[in-house]
Order: sequence, then C-alpha cells, then structure tokens
Amino acid sequence: MIDLRSDTVTKPSAAMRAAIANAEVGDDVFADDPTVNRLEERVATLLGKEAAVYVPTGTMANQIALRAHTEPGDIVITEALSHIIHHEGGAPAALAGVSITPLPGRYGVITADQVRAVAPRLDPDVPPGLVQPASLVTLENTHNEAGGTIWPLEALREVVAAAGSLGLGVHLDGARLWNAAAATGIAESEYADGFDTVTVCFSKGLGAPVGSALAGRKDLIDRARRFKAMYGGGFRQAGIIAAGALYGLENNRDRLVEDHANARRFAEAVATMDGIDVDLEAVQTNMTYFDVPEAPLFEQRCREAGVDLLALGPQRVRAVFHLDVSAADTGRAIDVLSGVAADHLR
Ligand SMILES: *Cc1c(COP(=O)(O)O)cnc(C)c1O
Repeated sequence: MIDLRSDTVTKPSAAMRAAIANAEVGDDVFADDPTVNRLEERVATLLGKEAAVYVPTGTMANQIALRAHTEPGDIVITEALSHIIHHEGGAPAALAGVSITPLPGRYGVITADQVRAVAPRLDPDVPPGLVQPASLVTLENTHNEAGGTIWPLEALREVVAAAGSLGLGVHLDGARLWNAAAATGIAESEYADGFDTVTVCFSKGLGAPVGSALAGRKDLIDRARRFKAMYGGGFRQAGIIAAGALYGLENNRDRLVEDHANARRFAEAVATMDGIDVDLEAVQTNMTYFDVPEAPLFEQRCREAGVDLLALGPQRVRAVFHLDVSAADTGRAIDVLSGVAADHLR
C-alpha cells in the first residue's frame, strides 16, 4: 500500500529508532529530561527565538499559544481555512474561550488591509465594553488546506507589522514551516521573524513518531508551559520521543525537496487525467489536492488498487508525499490513479 493520506503516517527509520533506543531521559515535568531540553534549545535557536517548549501535538502547541496570548472573550483573527479553526476539536472556543474572526485568504495568504479592516479600534473615545478586544492574529505557513502553500516573505512581514502596529500578538502555525524553508531556501528563522510564538511539528515531514514545539518570547513560553501542564501535556520521560524529533531535525529537513518533487510530478500527471481538476498553482510543497466526482468512492477504488488517499469532501481528495514514499512509489501511484480514473469517470 502506498499511503498518501498524510505526512503524519511516516514510521521511524532504523537509524531514528536507534537514536530513540539510546536516548538519555529524565522527567519533563521537572524540566530535567536532557533530550527534551536539548530539543527545546535547538528549536529555539533554529527559529531565532528566546525559548521553546516540547509538546505532544501541534494542536497542543497552537492551543497553549492561543491561551497564552488571550483572555476568555477575546477575538483571534485568522485565515478562514486554518487548521486552528477546522482541525483542532473546537479548542479555541472550548479551551481558550476565544471567538474567531475568519478572513478569506488567497492560497492561505491574507493581507494587512484585511487585518486592519476587522481589528477593533484602540481609540480611547470608544467606551470599553462596546467593542470586544482582538488580541491575536494567527497565520499558517505552509498553509495546509490551501494546498501546502507558501507565504511570500514580504506579504508575511506586512501582516506581522500591521498586527504589531494594532497592538496585536502574532502567532505562526508553522507545522510545516520546514517545507516552506526547504522549498524556498529562506531560513525558518527568517519566516519566524517578528512572530511572538511559532508552532512547528516533528511528526510530519521530519518523520518523527510524536511531538511538536512552541517557540517564542520567553515570557509567553513560560506562560504557555502553565497551559501545557493544565492540558495534560507533562509527558515525563518524553526524551524517548524527543530523540526522534532531534534526529528528524538534523537528518530529514534537506530531503523534503524530494517530497516536493514527487508531489509536483504526481499533480502534473493527475492534471492530465479526464474528470480530475488540479490547481497546479497551489502545488508548492508536498501536497496535491484535486477535485473528482464522488471523491469517497474514488478514494475507496484507489485503496483497493493499492493507493491510500484522503477524501476530504464530496469532491475533494488529498495526496501527501513524505519520506516513506519514493519516486518509484510516486510513479506507481500515478499508474494506479490513471487506471482508476479511466474506470471511475466512464
Ligand atoms: C498537522 C497540523 C497541525 C498539528 O496537528 P497535530 O496532529 O495536532 O500534531 C497544526 N497545524 C497544521 C497546519 C497542521 O497541518
């Protein structure tokens, strides 16, 4: 089976398992797990931030960030298709008690003008209580639902600057920031510049079994640690898995361009198949989203033929490329889709 449902399905390699087996561990809650501490320092340095905290999931990283930046009742401004809104169990409302102002993006990108248009005025003449305060803007890079799309650096900086001048915090959901950096050659720290907090995931393209991190300003990370504990994220001998994350960071970032090449080749092939629609402009990193009639049935037929895809809507299907999918696998997946498409769409 060629598993293209997500880049989270990667299994640790033999070398990663060896690093995991030999990991030095302590107790994460007592802050004396040396491998966790090493990972946190490495991530903070890579992202150009003062501190970082290791957590079990990207969802937890985003949600402790939201909680650390806000008070219940605040507004968070974010792009309308963001992971934070659609794939985190309703946590912004349930855990942070915030409401969201969603802004429609183009390929996941929103503009400074859009943010200025919805941010409440800080005007002292406006009576307190009349306008709900917004406290945070969150952006996503790469943007998952928009297709794994990359924020142009200039556009990113304009929104960060606008948020700053409005007195808003800025959080980056960089679950796949590694992919943006690999694709463009722009360092992760460049993309992270100006953000108060940044989420990164190790369990996707980097191939680690578990874990994400939140990096940022020391005061915010300290506050976020309190919410990590509150949300049940104190995970004791977490050095076992942090060793996998460290291994992925050091060994699997450069090779992400191979996943991007496979996604591109797959998208271009699928685009030639009758009845399938692909927006090739959206194919910028390791993902291909495409439209096909009766997506769940198409997904089922592809699975029977040996390719596991993810149907995300009545017509929408996703294929994600990762380190357990070779160029040869990509060729085989193209052949399978070609056969299924010819049959399915007859
Ligand atoms: C995967 C992902 C996350 C975090 O997901 P977890 O499954 O909780 O680790 C956050 N943001 C984006 C954009 C993602 O794709």
